[in-house]
Amino acid sequence: MEENDQTPIEKINGYEHYNNQIYIKREDLIGFSFGGNKARKAREFEKEIEGKNYTSIITYGSSSSNHCRVIANLANKHQLKCTVISPKKNYTETYNSRLMKILGAKIIKVPIESVTREIDNEIKKEKEIGGQPFFIQGGGHGNIGTYAYIKCFEEILKQEHQLGKKFDYIFHATGTGTTQAGLICGKIIHRSTTNIVGISIARKKPTGRQIVIKSAQDYLGDSYLSKIEKATIFIDDYVLNGYSDFNPEIDKVIKDLFMLNGIGLNRTYTGKAFWGMLEYLKKNHISNKTILFINTGGTPLFFDNIKELI
Ligand SMILES: *Cc1c(COP(=O)(O)O)cnc(C)c1O
Repeated sequence: MEENDQTPIEKINGYEHYNNQIYIKREDLIGFSFGGNKARKAREFEKEIEGKNYTSIITYGSSSSNHCRVIANLANKHQLKCTVISPKKNYTETYNSRLMKILGAKIIKVPIESVTREIDNEIKKEKEIGGQPFFIQGGGHGNIGTYAYIKCFEEILKQEHQLGKKFDYIFHATGTGTTQAGLICGKIIHRSTTNIVGISIARKKPTGRQIVIKSAQDYLGDSYLSKIEKATIFIDDYVLNGYSDFNPEIDKVIKDLFMLNGIGLNRTYTGKAFWGMLEYLKKNHISNKTILFINTGGTPLFFDNIKELI
């Protein structure tokens, strides 16, 4: 996976409300396994597994998980077995789940309350046959994933310099909170004044916000807690009824952005967050600002719901 290429930041058309200028950072264009924030995190996991004696990767996530697709691809690239533990409930075929199958991942569907036990079980089984499993938390959660987004923040600082712009706000979809935690750590380390606004796609406050704070604290250490708390803007006004719930306005945003800018968002993450961002700007009367939206990817999900856009 190429490391030196920065993902482009481009200005988008059609969203000049209140004289804000909106830019998009194209994490969806990362050149491995259809890109996205999980591909950026996977780059860091790749460094962990390279040159070691691992025999398999074990992780978990839903049938629509971008993380599981990318990790299944990473495992295949390194000729490692891949096991994905998935909650049985709401398991539907998606492009991501089909890609996981193509990539040869072993998918184990269990009731949600058995996920942890099943993970332990799979790790034990692999060790019993003399293997060495590498375990990755769902969504690439943890310090390695956080670090990936500190580096992304540093990339944004460089790009601000290149563009001669300062972003007043950075918006993005927040799920497991790792992406936001990394951006917040980057902001604190580099004393940036950018407001980082995570639009939650599933979790509510206070838990969702606490997880972001805890992740940043795990990385930076306890002495940074008050700085982290101050920097964490976690918006749960747009989660609707939770993960993968959507409304017709989200579909409209997805269609408009595709038509005007040729960028494909999705209902679960980026489309929901982009819609949430527009609502947030309106609600808070934010005007004359330079804004960056991070397109965290999920390209296969765009195609899952393409029929509904016609
Ligand atoms: C996983 C994911 C997110 C959320 O990232 P977290 O680091 O889990 O908060 C956002 N967008 C897309 C497309 C994702 O796949």
